[in-house]
Amino acid sequence: MLVDGFGRVAIDLRVSLTDKCNLRCSYCMPAEGLEWLPSVDVLTDDEVVRLVAVAVREGVTEVRFTGGEPLLRRGLVDIVARVKALPAEPETSLTTNGIGLAKVAPALADAGLDRVNVSLDTLRPERFQLIARRDRLDQVFEGLAGAVAAGLAPVKVNAVLVRGVNDDEATSLLGWAVAEGYHLRFIEQMPLDAQHGWSRDQMVTAEEILSQLAERFVLTPVGSAERGSAPAEEWWVDGGPARVGVIASVTRPFCGACDRVRLTADGQLRNCLFAREESDLRSAMRAGASDEDLAERMRVAMFGKRAGHGIDDPGFLQPSRPMSAIGG
Ligand code: SAM
Ligand code: SF4
Repeated sequence: MLVDGFGRVAIDLRVSLTDKCNLRCSYCMPAEGLEWLPSVDVLTDDEVVRLVAVAVREGVTEVRFTGGEPLLRRGLVDIVARVKALPAEPETSLTTNGIGLAKVAPALADAGLDRVNVSLDTLRPERFQLIARRDRLDQVFEGLAGAVAAGLAPVKVNAVLVRGVNDDEATSLLGWAVAEGYHLRFIEQMPLDAQHGWSRDQMVTAEEILSQLAERFVLTPVGSAERGSAPAEEWWVDGGPARVGVIASVTRPFCGACDRVRLTADGQLRNCLFAREESDLRSAMRAGASDEDLAERMRVAMFGKRAGHGIDDPGFLQPSRPMSAIGG
């Protein structure tokens, strides 16, 4: 088992398949992009599947593919199929910006993908251009529709509100999501952008989002039994069955219940989004480590997980890698 010193057990593995992206969301990376990982450092498909298989043998039951933009990874469908074919049949999901999803959704569904989360922060093209710095909103809508058509429903939509750009859009996003049958979740902006531009004063908080939503919807809390260990606090919208979630990682941290572990595209195991240390599984694997050696490295890395992300600690240091390189 991947258990830490506080008794938390990691069962949810986030796998970044690439650090590259075709958008440039302002809360994630600078307009000019980033220096991408050298391709020789990026795990091959076989290496990804091997490390996931080791983690699954260590008790991981859910594998989420992310990035960067995971749809840019050529071997994605094959990786999903091979992970799904592991004896323990882990749940598989994908977090994507949706661009190009319409085309590949049927193949992903055939490969056994269980769920998809699409990130979308605004319904307005001019705002999309401001946040993502690309004019591609229509392709995200196509991606969402394609996912539903391929049977990947219910599709979750993740939205980040950015002060002064789309911070007035909570109610229209929820109205749209309810009408379309998407499960919307708002995510508080975290200090994980490459350009270190996050500030607490500018962040749109869960409290602010909920008070905006309450102007138009009746929200009643979804009980924890129906919510499981998910980080999002959930509310029924106007009595249900639609729900809305808020992932308040900053103002209402849920580190005490964290069950996640992350693998970067270059094969580094991270026990937390905000970890400052990584365990270099790629080098160990390429130097001939056995599956048992790799499992032991995973167990050791997990044991050192800190109690919390410490964003509020005076000594908080943003991790050296941004969200796009860690895998969100
Ligand atoms: N490119 C894919 C996407 O956008 O869904 C997957 C990777 S992206 C890093 C994963 C999620 O992280 C997205 O929902 C995105 O909105 C979110 N994200 C990125 N930077 C963030 C930040 N600084 N704070 C909170 N969420 C962030
Ligand atoms: Fe790309 Fe996702 Fe980051 Fe936006 S949030 S720049 S889509 S990796």
